[in-house]
Amino acid sequence: MSDEKSIFKRIIDKEIPANIVHEDEHCLAFHDVAPAAPTHVLVIPKKEIINVAGLSDDDVQLAGHLLLAVGKVARQLGLEESGYRVVANCGKDGGQSVDHLHFHILGGRALSWPPG
Ligand code: AMP
Repeated sequence: MSDEKSIFKRIIDKEIPANIVHEDEHCLAFHDVAPAAPTHVLVIPKKEIINVAGLSDDDVQLAGHLLLAVGKVARQLGLEESGYRVVANCGKDGGQSVDHLHFHILGGRALSWPPG
């Protein structure tokens, strides 16, 4: 990971604003600045982890916490009944553009499959 703070670390540190919908000791959820669906929220750990591949055995509890947070935030956003998609882009071919682990929650319309 580069020494430069990622944009998400700057959001965690409250150096730049975000439309936050959930925050706890371990994670933060906020609206994506360029929504790809009517509801598009990102759930990120406060710990600096590059992506799913950067998780280690030390992160077992955190990984569980993040997945539970995804479900809770989706419920809070009213997506549970209609359904939603959870995406974690990983690395170059995965289309990851921000090097800080994040789960996209996408909902509010029917989403096609497979993704492009
Ligand atoms: P990914 O391409 O999977 O790495 O996703 C990164 C996401 O972060 C994209 O959907 C961006 O629109 C979003 N994003 C980038 N900067 C910000 C920001 N300052 N606030 C909220 N979302 C952001």
